[in-house]
Amino acid sequence: MSYVSEVYAALEKKHPYEPEFLEAAKRVLDSIAPVVDANEDAYRKMCLLERITEPERIISFRVPWTDDAGVNHVNLGYRVQFNSAIGPYKGGLRFHPSVNQSILKFLGFEQIFKNSLTGLPIGGGKGGSDFDPHGKSDAEVMRFCQSFMTELFKYIGKDVDVPAGDIGVGGREVAYMYGQYKRITNLYEGVLTGKGLTFGGSLARTEATGYGLVYIVNEICKGAGKELAGKTVVISGSGNVAQYACQKAQQLGAKVVTVSDSNGYVYDPDGIKLDVVFDIKQKRRARIKEYVDAVPTAQYFEGEKPWGVKCDIALPCATQNEINGEAAKTLVENGCWLVAEGANMPSDADAVDTFLEKKILYMPGKAANAGGVAVSALEMSQNSERLSWTFEEVDGKLKDIMAGIYSKVSEAAARYGYENNFVVGANIAGFEKVATAMMAQGLV
Ligand code: GLU
Repeated sequence: MSYVSEVYAALEKKHPYEPEFLEAAKRVLDSIAPVVDANEDAYRKMCLLERITEPERIISFRVPWTDDAGVNHVNLGYRVQFNSAIGPYKGGLRFHPSVNQSILKFLGFEQIFKNSLTGLPIGGGKGGSDFDPHGKSDAEVMRFCQSFMTELFKYIGKDVDVPAGDIGVGGREVAYMYGQYKRITNLYEGVLTGKGLTFGGSLARTEATGYGLVYIVNEICKGAGKELAGKTVVISGSGNVAQYACQKAQQLGAKVVTVSDSNGYVYDPDGIKLDVVFDIKQKRRARIKEYVDAVPTAQYFEGEKPWGVKCDIALPCATQNEINGEAAKTLVENGCWLVAEGANMPSDADAVDTFLEKKILYMPGKAANAGGVAVSALEMSQNSERLSWTFEEVDGKLKDIMAGIYSKVSEAAARYGYENNFVVGANIAGFEKVATAMMAQGLV
């Protein structure tokens, strides 16, 4: 049995109740096999794969809080500190009822390679809670965030572990958690990223994931001798990533025709009006179906995903496994030639196989959505030097970082004979840096 297969078989035995994590580990291990085969003896001796697939530690804790009616609740809280070989643990916090240890291990594992691809000194981590912020009052969200941080503060710090947002955690939640951290520790330090601009946040952080996604799409287009301007783009989701992907795609001359939420999608043949989306999502925190009240020429499809809409480019920006094999086939049959992931692992394994078989340009999330965490790392730098950079400076660095990721991914794919297979390229390029650091640092 190959080293990769042995390690995967052992993982399946050890963690039979973690399907999301096993899936993520399998996909990475399969695609780094060429590097592992070339270094098998050294890696085996140092148990490299056994170590890289096991978090350095997982903290799990209870989060008690009281709702507005005076009723008490208890949620689960976690932080998965996966890998610190190349920097302090870095990765978001997700508040969503689906959160469990398996999902956070999958996200933390992906984060290791994503963060490595940015070229910045950040390790991999992820955390969150099964708390559902939907329908909660502001005061309830504040009390929950304070309780969550009252336990988490013991395990994080600006040089230890720097959480940020993810699904269900935006500027409001980061700010409440930052306030509580500061109150308990008496430290004014960059312990969280995605902070407000008046207390250490970075300009362009809000836009970074969506903008970065479109910057890399632009690079992919250039590499393929095509142009983004004039192309039809289908976007899923309507949160932070979807909103700013839509904005940047429109600025670069593309036409975005859909946005969605977990209830359904909106199709606007004239192009999505972003001010309407901002009003619904940022101001009123309402459902996307209200779009058609403001734009009666648009249509809303309850309970459906937008993958049947004809497009050149698809940008899944909602959540994991939102494109299955069938949806992937429909996209390709309808002429879609580029898919880049704003969400983490939105294409399931069958969908990825379809994209690779049909040889369309497919950029996986760990490369395509790395702009968010990259600007988080730039926020850490600004906090450390106690300075704030201009929007143009941060945005310029983001552009360079995304172009750098595109070239690292294409170069690694080509080096191992997988030209234009960005899955293999992203996994190998992300893995190589972490592996080299782990090998150099010894058996820790
Ligand atoms: N949650 C984002 C991600 O999946 C951002 C993480 C961060 O900024 O630390 O990469």
